[in-house]
Order: sequence, then C-alpha cells, then structure tokens
Amino acid sequence: MNYQQILKDIHQAILPYAQEGKQADYIPALARVNPEQFGMCIHTIQGRTFPEGDAFVPFSIQSISKVFSLAACLSFEGDELWRRVSKEPSGTAFNSLIQLEVEKGIPRNPFINAGAIVLADVLLKHLKHPEDDFLRFVRALAGNNRIDYNPEVASSEQACGYLNAAIANLLKYHHNIEGEIERVLHFYFLMCSVEMTCCDLARAFLPFANHQKPFDFDGIRLTASQVKRINAIMQTCGFYDEAGEFSYLVGLPGKSGVGGGIAAIYPKRYAVAVWSPRLNAKGNSVMGIKALELLTTETQESIF
Ligand code: GLU
Repeated sequence: MNYQQILKDIHQAILPYAQEGKQADYIPALARVNPEQFGMCIHTIQGRTFPEGDAFVPFSIQSISKVFSLAACLSFEGDELWRRVSKEPSGTAFNSLIQLEVEKGIPRNPFINAGAIVLADVLLKHLKHPEDDFLRFVRALAGNNRIDYNPEVASSEQACGYLNAAIANLLKYHHNIEGEIERVLHFYFLMCSVEMTCCDLARAFLPFANHQKPFDFDGIRLTASQVKRINAIMQTCGFYDEAGEFSYLVGLPGKSGVGGGIAAIYPKRYAVAVWSPRLNAKGNSVMGIKALELLTTETQESIF
C-alpha cells in the first residue's frame, strides 16, 4: 500500500474543510494555537513511518493521554479497576456532570473526564514519582525522550477548570477519589498537557496495534488480552458522544483530544495520528475525522 501518496492525496482532498469548526477556547492556552495546521503520520508494525504536513509539530495531546493512563492503571490494578470506573459509552459530553450524579460517582468510562480523574487518583496511589514516572512511560512508548509536559497549558487549564473541579468534588463525595482533590486535578491537567507530534503519537500507539509483541514499557506491562480490551474501549468510548459516528465513518479504535489530535490503530498493521486544531461541536477535529474517513475508505482497511 502506498501510504505516502495516499496521505498526500488526503491532505489535498480535505483542504475545503480547513475553515470549518473552531479550536477549543475554554482552555486559554489552546485558544492561542494557530488553527491553520494539519499533520498526519502512519507508523506500521514493520517500522515504516509516513509523515504528511505538520507531522513533526508538537501539540497538546489532551484526552489522548487517557489511553496512556488507562494502560498504566490496568497494569497496576487489573480488573479491580472496574470497581471504580465502568466501560460503557457515555452518550454525553466529555465533561458532563449529570450522568455522574445519577450513577452515584461511578464514571461511565475511563475516557470521559470523570473517568480519567479517577485514573489520575489511581496512578497517584501506585507511582512513587507520578509526574516523572508517567512521562517516562510515554517517552518509552514513543521512543522519544524529548516529549514533555507543557506546564503553561496545564496551569492555564487549572486556572479555569471549574467543571473538572466540580466533577472531582462529586467523585470525592461518592468516595471515588482517595487523594486530595487539588493534587489529583493538578496531575490530571498535567497529563493532558503532554505535547507530542503526530509521528510521536503514531509510534506510541503502535504497541496497541501490535498484539503479537509483549507490551512492556518502563515497567508498565499488559497482557495481549488487556491490550485488546483497551482497544475495545477506544472503539466504543474514544470520541465522547460521537463514538458511534466515528465508528461508522472510520471503523478503527481511536482516541481524540480537544487539542485537535486523534490517534487510531488498525490492528496488526499500523497506528495513525492526525492533528488539526479546529473542532466540531462534539470536540473532535473536523479535518482529523475527515482525513481518517478518507484513509479507511481509500484503502478499504478497517476493522469492519
Ligand atoms: N483537559 C481537557 C479537559 O479536561 C481534556 C478534554 C479532552 O481532550 O477531551 O477538559
């Protein structure tokens, strides 16, 4: 498959959508990102990389980090984790409070904010130096030691993270947070602030596409079955209340973030990452979804 040419053609084909949507502005540091950017990168399990456009520009991965924190939590807790977080699609916005109240502090899944705030609490319990340890894990996955947090993005979000603070308080009220709320939120925002390029992300997601190889990165180990289950949760819950639409249009497990990034996998073949800051009403990258839809349509490669 000539992925390089396919990505080039896709880039051309999606240019008419370049002005659609707008970047996340509820996080002031993200509102300042130049929205006129588009990058994409495929990394195959044979080790070939196909970059296109702004594939080497670092951006804020935001909720894509939730896949990494889920992997770490599952490696520490195994199925015990599911006592504190469910694994059903939410059908509500990523930062919704309503469902959490009705369901008495058990988040619908690990990929909405409430679920990921619980994951942050779990990681604080297990990691000796949480900030350093999490970063080392992500760097090992991506094979890039220059990956880092952006503390400015984290504090910009924390300064007006009223909704996430409300979620954390509700979780604490229902005894689903053990640590101090301030500490948990600080770590949660920091994990969201990690900056990676499309090529970093494609490489970091490759182990999720590659069941054959053991998952073992900086002491975080998962069985093939656990990797498969993370992929299943990406498929059903990776795109907020647009997970069904993404499945329908693209047909790959993946995860998006409000920085405009999307990472997805084609099991046993490749991982792909795409980034463009303008988001649709559900918080997913307009050009990113379009590009992935074209990729699986042109190549006729999807899990369905
Ligand atoms: N840091 C963002 C928030 O908590 C992440 C949201 C996202 O990317 O879905 O609102």
